[in-house]
Amino acid sequence: MYNKYLEDIKTYEAGKPIELVVREYGIEAKDVVKLASNENPLGCSPKVAEAIAKNASKAALYPDDSMYELKEALSDRFSVASENIIIGAGSDQVLEFISHVKLNSSSKILRSAVTFAMYDIYAKQFGAKVITTPSYQHIANEFIEKIESENPDIVYICTPNNPTGDATKREDIFAIIEATPKDSLVVVDCAYMEYVEDEDYRVTPTDFLKYDNVIYLGTFSKAYGLGGMRVGYGIANKGLIDVLYKVRPPFNITTLSLLAAIESSKDEEFVAKSVALNKEQMGRYVEFANSKAIEYIPSSTNFITYMFDDKYDSSKIATNLMKQGVIIRDLASYGLNAVRITIGTATQNDRLFELLSKEL
Ligand SMILES: *Cc1c(COP(=O)(O)O)cnc(C)c1O
Repeated sequence: MYNKYLEDIKTYEAGKPIELVVREYGIEAKDVVKLASNENPLGCSPKVAEAIAKNASKAALYPDDSMYELKEALSDRFSVASENIIIGAGSDQVLEFISHVKLNSSSKILRSAVTFAMYDIYAKQFGAKVITTPSYQHIANEFIEKIESENPDIVYICTPNNPTGDATKREDIFAIIEATPKDSLVVVDCAYMEYVEDEDYRVTPTDFLKYDNVIYLGTFSKAYGLGGMRVGYGIANKGLIDVLYKVRPPFNITTLSLLAAIESSKDEEFVAKSVALNKEQMGRYVEFANSKAIEYIPSSTNFITYMFDDKYDSSKIATNLMKQGVIIRDLASYGLNAVRITIGTATQNDRLFELLSKEL
C-alpha cells in the first residue's frame, strides 16, 4: 500500500527527552540530567537567548529566504563565498537534499560499519543499497576497496564519527576522496569538528572546494548550542550547491532559528568556553573508565562511548539510570553492547559517575 522501500527502514530512535522521564518516572524536570543527544550542557549563548526574546513577535514573518546574513557569517568563519553555502533545518536536512539529488533504486551508499543512522534512512527512502566497510573506524584501505568493487554513488565520511567519537586523519580523508570516481559524491560530515584539536585530524570546508564532488557538512546543534533551533549547513563548489537548491523547499528554517544562528556566530567566546569545559570534563570520563576498567573509545567530540564486556548489559544500565533521572544513549540498536554519554557540566557528570558506579 505504501512505498515498498520504506519496509526496510528502522525509524530513527532519538535520545529520550526529559519530558518522558518526568512523565514515566515522576521525576521533576529540574532533576533530570540529559546526557543523550550531544547537546551543549551550557545551553546556548546568552546573546542568542536575548535576541530570541527581543524578536519573538517576528514569529509572524517568513524568514529572509536568501539567508544573507547567516551566509555572510559562515563566509567569514570559513573563508568561502556565499554561493558555496546551503542552509538546512539541521545538517540532517542537507543530508536529505544530497540523497534527493543523487540516489534512486539502483544506487548505493558506502559508510563505515557503525556511524550516523540518518545516512541509511535517507538512502533507503530512495531504494538505494547500503554498503558498509568492516570497521567502525574510517580505514582508508577498507573504503578504497569497497569504492573499487561496489562503485557507490555517495561515500559518507563522518569525522569525528557519531556514535563512536573517533576522528579520521586528514590524509585518510583525502585518500578516500582521491579514490572516489568524479561522478560519485563524498560527504564529509563534520558535526563535531569544533571539538577536534589535533591538526592532523582537523579539516575545514576550504580543504574540499577544489573537488567538484565533495561537500562539507556542519551544524549549529552541537558546540554552538542550538540543537533546538535546527540549523545546519553544507559547503561545496557552486555547481553542487546549485543542484541542491533545486530540492530545497522555500523558508526551510524558521525566522527565529535564522536569527539564533546569526547571533551565535557573533559569540565565538561561548563556543571556546564550551569546548574548554568539554575538554576538562572529558578527562574525568577517561579517568572514570580507567578506574573501573571500562573499555572506552578515545573521543574527539562532546561525548564518549563506553564499551561493556559480557558481564554487563548496556540496555539495562541505560534503563536503570533513566529511572533515576539520568538519560544516556544505549547503543544496542547499533549492534554494540555500549553506551554513548554526552559530556555534561561538572555537576551533571558527578551524578552520572555516582549512578554508574552503583551499576558496575
Ligand atoms: C548531530 C549530528 C548531525 C546533525 O545534526 P542537526 O541537528 O540535524 O544539524 C549530523 N551528523 C552527525 C554525525 C551528528 O551527530
